[in-house]
Amino acid sequence: MASTHGQIRPEKDTFLGGENPFESMMARFDIAAQKLKLEPGLYSVLRHPEKQIIVACPLLRDNGQVEVYTGYRVLYNTGRGPAKGGIRYDMGVTLDEVKALAAWMTWKCAVVNLPFGGAKGGILCDPSTMSMPELERLTRRYTSGIIETLGPDSDVPAPDVNTNERMMAWIMDTYSMHKRHTVTAVVTGKPVEMGGSLGRREATGRGCMIVTREALKRLNIRPDGTRVVVQGFGNVGSISAKLMADLGMKIVAVSDKDGGIYDPAGLDLADVMSHVKEHKFLKTYTKADKVSNAELLTLDTDVLVPAALENVITEENAGRIKAKIICEGANGPTTAGADHILQEKGILVIPDILANAGGVTVSYFEWVQDRGGYFWDEETVNQRLERIMVESFAEVASMAARHSVSMRIAAYMVAIDRVAKVHRLRGMYA
Ligand code: NAD
Repeated sequence: MASTHGQIRPEKDTFLGGENPFESMMARFDIAAQKLKLEPGLYSVLRHPEKQIIVACPLLRDNGQVEVYTGYRVLYNTGRGPAKGGIRYDMGVTLDEVKALAAWMTWKCAVVNLPFGGAKGGILCDPSTMSMPELERLTRRYTSGIIETLGPDSDVPAPDVNTNERMMAWIMDTYSMHKRHTVTAVVTGKPVEMGGSLGRREATGRGCMIVTREALKRLNIRPDGTRVVVQGFGNVGSISAKLMADLGMKIVAVSDKDGGIYDPAGLDLADVMSHVKEHKFLKTYTKADKVSNAELLTLDTDVLVPAALENVITEENAGRIKAKIICEGANGPTTAGADHILQEKGILVIPDILANAGGVTVSYFEWVQDRGGYFWDEETVNQRLERIMVESFAEVASMAARHSVSMRIAAYMVAIDRVAKVHRLRGMYA
């Protein structure tokens, strides 16, 4: 671990950090901070979460028993604006994980220049064992537990693992009941009927498509016929695949949690999508070869989009990856140890904090629309997203060129520099 008492850890010739997402991220943070020559005081400030809240959430189960669940909300940094970040319901939720994800949101918002800080929250629970009324009661109780931090000017949650627009509606309602008036801008990812934004559902996949298209331009590759492999066929993966196919790219393999399907001549994506709509999973699709999730990552392709889980590209398989471009739709799909292998191979990695920032960007648009009380059509949302993603890609690429670093380190440098500048201008209240 680096010292948190003001010393920047000396740069090592290999990347530090293991499979722990917080360590992986901080390994990159340290390299970027070193390159930026971040002053020790500010370095320490940016390595500490601003606020960590732990709340007990009693839940009256349908059977009349009361159980108590633990909820967390971490505001990592609010220098640039209200904290922004999702809430997850999962048995893996810990304070450390929430802290890491909150830091991640800080850099993600900054790399696309949104006027937000970063936050994350979660409840340690298994939502699959709960009825809808139980989930509603738990959501409302958690919301009231963290109500002091919430607000359009202070902390704005969004959906994350196992939470969705329905829960965002309950959070908005609970907050509004306490405030005695309707406050739509307190959460994003809401249903469109109550202040959600058009285009939000597709935004992350659309952002992935835009940055991949920009990366292809840099490599002088035309999208027509360019081969794409996508791991994960959920919101991010399926929409990335669809929008890349719309550009003329050839989707050769896609997968879900049970494995993938592969056709080197290109899958009929419309057919695959209608199969998934009807049967939910890919495993019953018979018009293509089967491929495992591990094999899929090393298939012969031009573009690889990991859009499922963290830590799938590791030191073990990085050397066998054939793609020229990796677009990180998922959060943290590449371990810090794999980074330098990919860099040595000359693979252009579009890092998660840039590649999947389309979602939070349209969340920002939702917040802006709620506050203005004026809603945009989908074309306007998509045009504005396009502009932000294209500009952010160019800024990160130019930082990478200026400092001869990978796109990942460059993205952290752009983000940390922006957060640091605001702290310097505001002055240190120390
Ligand atoms: P999702 O639940 O809609 O889809 C996940 C997909 O991954 C599913 O197809 C699932 O079957 C598949 N999957 C699960 N386990 C797998 C495994 N072991 N191997 C291969 N595939 C597996 O989730 P999503 O919203 O598409 O999110 C995917 C990733 O993108 C996550 O890392 C998430 O944090 C990240 N992300 C999502 C958004 C967003 O707006 N949805 C924004 C930023 C980042």
